[in-house]
Order: sequence, then structure tokens, then C-alpha cells
Amino acid sequence: MREAPPVTPSEPSGRPGGAGGGAVNPGTGGVIALAGGDSVREVVRALLAFNARESCGKCTPCREGTGRLLAQIEAPLDAGTVARLAEVIQLASLCGLGQAAPLSVLSGLADFPEVFGRVSSRKA
Ligand code: SF4
Repeated sequence: MREAPPVTPSEPSGRPGGAGGGAVNPGTGGVIALAGGDSVREVVRALLAFNARESCGKCTPCREGTGRLLAQIEAPLDAGTVARLAEVIQLASLCGLGQAAPLSVLSGLADFPEVFGRVSSRKA
């Protein structure tokens, strides 16, 4: 994955009458632009690795779960295992970093199941 140079919006943002003078509060977040040939699996791996690396370690679901999710995508994964692990991480993590960590792999599985190899819906 290549990093693109930062882009400066051409329109001001912010609350009306507030700093920036615009009508849109963009909140916080990020936009990732991908080239058509980028690997979905590599993008998901990079996003999961970011969450695993940035986990502060305070709570177990995020500290342990993000690394386990990352390990899950190294091979053909079991969608049921990923879904259960993702649910635990999302429900039991204390802050937004952990709660949002599984979103990339869940989106990848939902939109590009063929990319992640043989997917099973086996229940434990
Ligand atoms: S969810 Fe937040 S508080 Fe918990 S380990 Fe992850 S980064 Fe730390």
C-alpha cells in the first residue's frame, strides 16, 4: 500500500459561525483511497495490524483479540470464528479503538468473501 500526499479540502469545514466558518462538522475519522489493483486482504491486514499495534493493552479483548484477528487472516479463515471473536472485541473493549478494530475484517468478509479463501459458517 502506498501513502498518498495529504489533500487540503477546497471548502471550509466546521460549525456555522465557528472555527472554519463552514456548515459541515467532519468529526474525526479517516479516508483511505485505494487503487483498483490493491489487495483487499493486504488492506485488511494493514488495518488490523494498526489496531493491534495501537492497542494500549488495558483491556483483554482488544489487547489479545486484535492480534488473534490478525492471525486469522493469515490463512483461509473460518467466518464463524472471526464473527464470534469480532463480537467479543466490539462488545467488551473499553474504547473506540477496540470496538472498531474488527470492522475492516467484517467488511472484507461481507463484501469480498472470495478474497479470504474457504469460508465456513461452522458454529462452535
Ligand atoms: S479498547 Fe481501548 S482501552 Fe481497551 S486495550 Fe484497546 S485501546 Fe486500550
